[in-house]
Amino acid sequence: MKTQNDVTIIGAGIMGATMGIMMKKLMPESKITIYEKLNKVAAESSDSWNNAGTGHSAFCELNYTPQQKDGSINIDKALTIASSFEISRQFWAYLKEENVLTEPFIKTVPHMSFVWGEDNINFLRKRHEAMTKYALFEAMKYSEDFDEVATWVPMMMKGRDRNERMGVTRMQAGTDVNFDVITKGMIAFLEKADGVEVYLNYQVKNLYKQKDGSWNIKVKDRNTGKVKITNTKFVFIGAGGGSLPLLQKSGIKEGKGYGGFPVSGKFMKCMNPDVIKDHRAKVYGKAAEGSPPMSMPHLDERRINGEGSLLFGPYAGMSMKFLKTGSGLDLTKSLRFNNIRPMLAVAKNEFGLIKYLVGQVMQSKTDRFKFLKLYFPEAKEEDWELYTAGQRVQIMKKDKEKGGVLKLGTEIINSADGTLAALLGASPGASTAVTTMFEVLEKCFADEMASGNWKEKIAEMIPSYGKSLIDDAELCRKTRKATAKVLELEE
Ligand SMILES: Cc1cc2nc3c(=O)[nH]c(=O)nc-3n(C[C@H](O)[C@H](O)[C@H](O)COP(=O)(O)OP(=O)(O)OC[C@H]3O[C@@H](n4cnc5c(N)ncnc54)[C@H](O)[C@@H]3O)c2cc1C
Repeated sequence: MKTQNDVTIIGAGIMGATMGIMMKKLMPESKITIYEKLNKVAAESSDSWNNAGTGHSAFCELNYTPQQKDGSINIDKALTIASSFEISRQFWAYLKEENVLTEPFIKTVPHMSFVWGEDNINFLRKRHEAMTKYALFEAMKYSEDFDEVATWVPMMMKGRDRNERMGVTRMQAGTDVNFDVITKGMIAFLEKADGVEVYLNYQVKNLYKQKDGSWNIKVKDRNTGKVKITNTKFVFIGAGGGSLPLLQKSGIKEGKGYGGFPVSGKFMKCMNPDVIKDHRAKVYGKAAEGSPPMSMPHLDERRINGEGSLLFGPYAGMSMKFLKTGSGLDLTKSLRFNNIRPMLAVAKNEFGLIKYLVGQVMQSKTDRFKFLKLYFPEAKEEDWELYTAGQRVQIMKKDKEKGGVLKLGTEIINSADGTLAALLGASPGASTAVTTMFEVLEKCFADEMASGNWKEKIAEMIPSYGKSLIDDAELCRKTRKATAKVLELEE
């Protein structure tokens, strides 16, 4: 039997769930179907142990503020990410007030950057100077003083040479976010909402464009092995690492030339309560040359479902899979005539990345531990274990000059008629899911976004929508204060 609906969402991670809620709030009468391949929600990258839970707000991630050739610091990307995170906070605060999110999912954990070496210290000082001109970052503190830093992160300073020079910044308003809880809360709400159907253990196998502009979706029930075809007016491919194969199957011309480069993330984890109790921060260092942004080392306080832990990493791992639960053939199966050239060009041009990955894979347990000791000098090996977190698929795409480039952010690819959109890439990720989903809506529902009804509802969900939290300092302060109150966060 062929069923029909208005919106089909593929994937029940944070992106699919956010899209589902937005569509239901903006089009209450719509029929929405969500298909998730696994038998549970948020079990891939959005699972709490599969990501680092950093509320990415560019407070501490040094790769968002590159140094220019003239020595100045470009903070444009940091401003965009910080304001996007404020949009996520507004949306989550709205969902909390609407009783959609009923479980705790966010807490204050100060964000710090910690660097050694004169060049890095100069960089951090200049970065601090440039950033604190904006309300988004005005509360950021800078220190080179051993004793002051020791009050912020005592555990990192014990056993460290007092004469060692360092530069440190600290933002009290940093956060640790449990994206898993947010996703599950949103899907639980959708499961109860009129006109929404959520199918777990259903894998989308193919998508076929119809003459009337709609899409036929071929889905396999993994419990019974039965296959069905459903029809939909709009499809959002929010399948994480599984998005690229589905985009390729859709055959839209906008998806040609894209390839995926999978990198798996590993962390060292410590659950010893005596060690954990002394570290109250997410401390980011500087990434090694040639390494991708998600490889910036960080020592993080985490709290998952009430249980405290410390994470250190990530260490990169090689894997040919596009999903943690994927197949070793994923990369090979994604090869097409239209993406081989860009992928070969990336292999040739990104020598630094390849060298970094090989170095990471060759690391012994002792090498990994030595690296951790740079951040936590008195760490004991027996307190830490290595585990594999989520899988990321970095975008490779055509480039006129270089043949192909590796893109380390996210990208929305949509059909010209706005009936299909797919999200590729993984950074900054879950933290900016709300802004990313609004971008999908702006691309695919431009007329509706401009209509009075949608504008009104969006203003209710995101009071600052359409205004700049970068340029309007007062609005930025007011917005952060308001969401901090609802989400019970420190400012
Ligand atoms: C190691 C690591 C650390 C990270 N740290 C952070 C961080 O600190 N802060 C941050 O903001 N972000 C972080 N991220 C990124 C963040 O986790 C992701 O951007 C985000 O979770 C992606 O959400 P998603 O919904 O797109 O994908 P996922 O959560 O992966 O969800 C996609 C879903 O689609 C399903 N699916 C796939 N194929 C199909 C199919 N054919 N049919 C049906 N369903 C399908 C999958 O089973 C999965 O459930 C990190 C990621 C990694 C890997």
